[in-house]
Amino acid sequence: MNSQYGDCYYCGGEVLEREVDLEFRWGGRLFIIESVPTGVCQQCGERFFTAVVSEELDRLAKSSQVDRLIEVPVKVFQKAAA
Ligand SMILES: [Zn+2]
Repeated sequence: MNSQYGDCYYCGGEVLEREVDLEFRWGGRLFIIESVPTGVCQQCGERFFTAVVSEELDRLAKSSQVDRLIEVPVKVFQKAAA
């Protein structure tokens, strides 16, 4: 039992802190925030954030600061192949 996150809200599983790379879209662009301290349920994989981390994610999302740019390959699913 981790006191910072408690048990999983959804399944009651154990939630442990991991460093996770998060992907999200903001203003039509894809962003990645690396090494985010995230509570991850060991049973169902649900992710949880502390209030402090949530605030920092919000700040980073709105900030124009970019640390690194990467190329993201895009592939379109071909319906005919399914
Ligand atoms: Zn869970």
